[in-house]
Amino acid sequence: MTSKFENLLIKLGKQRWAQHLRRTQLSANDTSTAWAKDIITMDTRLRELSQRLLYIREEHKALLESDDLEAEEQLQVIQWQTELEDLARRYWHLEREFYRREASCPEGPLRRAYVTWKGNPEWYMSRYLRDDCAGRGGCCGRACGCCGRPRDAEGRVRLGHCTIECGCCRRVRGFDLTAEDKVRYQKLFDCGLKENEVLSDAMVLAYVFGLEG
Ligand SMILES: [Zn+2]
Ligand SMILES: [Zn+2]
Ligand SMILES: [Zn+2]
Repeated sequence: MTSKFENLLIKLGKQRWAQHLRRTQLSANDTSTAWAKDIITMDTRLRELSQRLLYIREEHKALLESDDLEAEEQLQVIQWQTELEDLARRYWHLEREFYRREASCPEGPLRRAYVTWKGNPEWYMSRYLRDDCAGRGGCCGRACGCCGRPRDAEGRVRLGHCTIECGCCRRVRGFDLTAEDKVRYQKLFDCGLKENEVLSDAMVLAYVFGLEG
């Protein structure tokens, strides 16, 4: 239940203070913290899929527009067509699953914090999340500005920071990541792992509350 003090802060327009208050109301093993880590993981998966989709779509289009494709390139076109269809299907399912889980956020201070913070259209451009993106080698560490604007003209690609599938990062990096590289990367930042607790708590704070530790 919202406390009288929290309501007063909202009435006074002190949203940030209200977020701090909600944070203090959260107990260490609250189930909603697990919910938050899960939703962050799902959001990341959605961004991975959509960034991969966009990258493959661009490369596919470029290849189709070039003349005299060699046999190897023709094969690549077919492979990409198949991958595009598969990605679109996976994205469709995952987006619905994300909605269901988001709507299932447990009642309480974390839910109020999440609804408040997500009401800010610029929520993902907080300093913490931009620094985190840059630290992982994402576009926020460069001048391209990919994270701050819609990634495709139709605006269908999920807003937010780079994942390992960002096409701009791939072009800067200069090489494709292998399946093993991707598994290694995902483990490195896995929110559910004990050794990542400090990092994932900070991520929950930034992602759900819009606060820094
Ligand atoms: Zn990027
Ligand atoms: Zn970029
Ligand atoms: Zn970024």
